[in-house]
Amino acid sequence: MPDYTEKELQTAFEYLKHEDILKYVPVDKLGNKKDALTALCTMLTLDIDELMKSAKELKEGIATIKNFKYYLNQGLGRYGSAKPFENMDAILVSKGIALMKESCSSLSYANPSKAIHTTENKSGTIKISCDIYRCGKFVTLFALCHEAGHAVDYPLRKAFLAMQTAIYPGFTGAGKEYEHFADLFATSFLMFIEKDKTAIQNAATKIFEDANNDGVHPSKSDRSLKVSTHISSY
Ligand SMILES: [Zn+2]
Repeated sequence: MPDYTEKELQTAFEYLKHEDILKYVPVDKLGNKKDALTALCTMLTLDIDELMKSAKELKEGIATIKNFKYYLNQGLGRYGSAKPFENMDAILVSKGIALMKESCSSLSYANPSKAIHTTENKSGTIKISCDIYRCGKFVTLFALCHEAGHAVDYPLRKAFLAMQTAIYPGFTGAGKEYEHFADLFATSFLMFIEKDKTAIQNAATKIFEDANNDGVHPSKSDRSLKVSTHISSY
């Protein structure tokens, strides 16, 4: 077994805590993290390299949630010059962006300290499933931006429908279109800020696989098609 630093082991333990399996470690082994980790990996037949990779992604995912309020606020400050709005009146766009910033400023983010398995924006509190933030920065970012997309949906619909239809051409709000709007808001925002087509497409695919057939979201194929069409327009 390679010699891991104390910090790496700590990260791995954070991951294991989320699996809620520390209770299976003999108490006398907990005094020595490395022994305990080795014992755990043997017990669970985990590949230690895979475990370290997962721990790194988990850490990035959690950091992404913790920094998102700032990230979103900064990004929205520049989002007005993103591609969907290029042919729109600049004053209207800046008013729409101000409205988006206002709706997003009141959002709060549940602390990812417990292994919850739901992703939602409920009464302005965004929760991200641990199955998502374990996948690292981009998957977590896409999920967070999707939920922020729900937050800006209704205010835009009422006051700035033109901005809404710039993000999602043909948007009417009927059926499950609000889910596609949240996806396309996330896509256009991340394309503008991160500019990494492959990472964004992969993140979206991962999320759509997890949410497929949940009764709330449209089908995986329908969501993927809209996102890939949007990405290929860049
Ligand atoms: Zn949604």
